[in-house]
Amino acid sequence: MINDEINTRHQARMVRKKALIDAAIARNDKAQGLLLVLTGNGKGKSSSAFGMVGRALGHGMKVGVCQFIKSRTDTGEEAFFGAHPLCEWHVLGDGFTWDTQDRSADIASAERGWTVAERMLADPSYQLVVLDELTYLLSYHYLDHERVLDAISQRPAMQHVVVTGRAAIEPLLDLADTVTEMLDVKHAFQAGIKAQPGIDL
Ligand code: ATP
Ligand code: MG
Repeated sequence: MINDEINTRHQARMVRKKALIDAAIARNDKAQGLLLVLTGNGKGKSSSAFGMVGRALGHGMKVGVCQFIKSRTDTGEEAFFGAHPLCEWHVLGDGFTWDTQDRSADIASAERGWTVAERMLADPSYQLVVLDELTYLLSYHYLDHERVLDAISQRPAMQHVVVTGRAAIEPLLDLADTVTEMLDVKHAFQAGIKAQPGIDL
């Protein structure tokens, strides 16, 4: 009897909830290219971006990926998505700044990499552009902020852009439509476990 009452109340609550959700979905009828920023110290920024690459390719969309900072070309994501005919994949970094230890070389490599990104951001045939680890090029002042933000804001109207990396600068967050901050609750690396293929690379 008590169970019946709980079930009836639950059902009534779900009917009200469904009406609210359906109304919100019906109201949100705009379509446009989105800017997403995935930032914060927790794991999941780049892998979330690559999840959207998979979604977009599944819809037959053309995708461009620019990986800044990092130089490794043996990742699972590059092997998998880079082989897809609709996905163009560029590894544009020279390694982490603490590995290169050479600010002017880092700046030159950022400039070279950014010209690839600029080409994609000016071309409406790319329906999704991922700028992986771009935030560091801004926070270290390797690239001119205005130049980067202008290229992103003047991109084709229906083009989606995903930016990843820690410590995203405020003007980038202001420009974004969707911002997610990953929270580092715990990470296996802190327990002495090395990066695992399939999970970390
Ligand atoms: P992922 O590519 O796994 O989604 P991410 O893009 O959020 O990670 P990055 O800062 O780009 O994070 O770091 C990439 C690598 O560092 C991955 O191997 C990831 O597992 C690891 N990593 C990410 N966050 C942390 C953390 N808080 N502590 C230790 N290692 C981390
Ligand atoms: Mg990353």
